[in-house]
Amino acid sequence: MPKRIAILGSTGSIGTAALDVIEHLGSDYQVTALSAHSQTKLLIEQVRKFRPAAVCCSDESTSNDVCREIESLGTKIYRGVDGLVELVRRDDVDVVLAAIVGAAGLPAVLATVESGKTLALANKESLVVAGSLLIPLAEKTGAKILPVDSEHSAIFQAAHAGRQNEIKRVILTASGGPFRNTPIEKIRSATLADALAHPTWRMGNKITIDSATMFNKALELIEACWLFRLPPKQIQIIVHPESIIHSMVEFVDNSVIAQLSPPDMRTPIQYALTYPERKPCVSRSMEWGKIFTMHFEPPDLVRFPALRLAYDVAERGGTAGAVLNAANEAAVAAFSSGNIAFGEISEIVEATLAAHELQLQPTLDDLLEADRWARCKARSFMQSRSSRSTCQS
Ligand code: NAD
Ligand code: MG
Repeated sequence: MPKRIAILGSTGSIGTAALDVIEHLGSDYQVTALSAHSQTKLLIEQVRKFRPAAVCCSDESTSNDVCREIESLGTKIYRGVDGLVELVRRDDVDVVLAAIVGAAGLPAVLATVESGKTLALANKESLVVAGSLLIPLAEKTGAKILPVDSEHSAIFQAAHAGRQNEIKRVILTASGGPFRNTPIEKIRSATLADALAHPTWRMGNKITIDSATMFNKALELIEACWLFRLPPKQIQIIVHPESIIHSMVEFVDNSVIAQLSPPDMRTPIQYALTYPERKPCVSRSMEWGKIFTMHFEPPDLVRFPALRLAYDVAERGGTAGAVLNAANEAAVAAFSSGNIAFGEISEIVEATLAAHELQLQPTLDDLLEADRWARCKARSFMQSRSSRSTCQS
């Protein structure tokens, strides 16, 4: 029986890389469902090639023509957020690769965990927002959460070398992004093109901007706390510009186990899909015949306030992660449309967090409300940069 896979966000950077992996894995892995929000031309090409049983057009305004064309290929169509939830619940889906960007991925991630299916998780934002619900729920339903994020895949693999209570700390590596060496006074006014010029990874725009502010590492720190049940003080962020060591686990006997591979997401995507097996992969392999060097340095918390905020948010828990994530999504959208300066992204997130009244042990409704409030608050800060606000809490 092949593993039957749903890819949510199939037209994105992770989604297309996952389809490449599955194509090369052969008939033991089958794409049974896809979802996309835009780029419907690419979605139709994917349907023609992979012939999934079902597709969700998550943007309700997707044209009827697109839906008709997909249906004419014998594929069932779902629409909107409810459609994503129905898609992952289908009997012909065993594994869900969650590769939607942002908190928009949460409802389908939640439905996957509820249904006890295997979740290959790229959509880190859903854990940052609702890790406090998703992790206990997975324990209850037996759903496996397998990390796709390269750092978390590395930690997951390295952690197999010992027991949970033998882990001294996790070393979470970061490339440092495009502004690692830029004079601090120039970072504030960096352009969108500067922020999108990532030195080692080719990814979707939102995560690339998050890498430039280092909010990506902030989200990953919180993601790692939930996935590996570690307190933030046991996770140390280290800048490693070559992005070859994807993260490390240090055990109580001072042994450090690292996972290495070239910066190619197809490697961790495949591991999440084939786990616990390993298969030959279409990704690039290391070139050991060449001389190369690797560098490590501590991160600069003045240059990257996101990291300071991340430790604080991970420590506070409750609704703090939802607020950090939502404010960041709102600020990144505003920067991408030219409405705020690059340097304002972290200022807006910090101001929104400072205005938030933390709720410990939130319900799903509390988290969704914190998300809504934080987007509204961040937008009002961006409009006025004053403390006056119309957001009710
Ligand atoms: P992307 O922008 O390239 O693709 C996003 C996908 O989600 C697209 O298919 C898009 O149609 C869909 N989408 C966008 N908005 C949506 C919405 N509101 N509702 C439903 N679907 C929507 O993004 P990406 O770089 O592939 O990243 C996807 C996720 O994976 C993110 O959470 C990111 O942090 C994580 N991730 C990405 C990488 C990478 O190398 N790209 C690495 C690690 C983790
Ligand atoms: Mg990562």
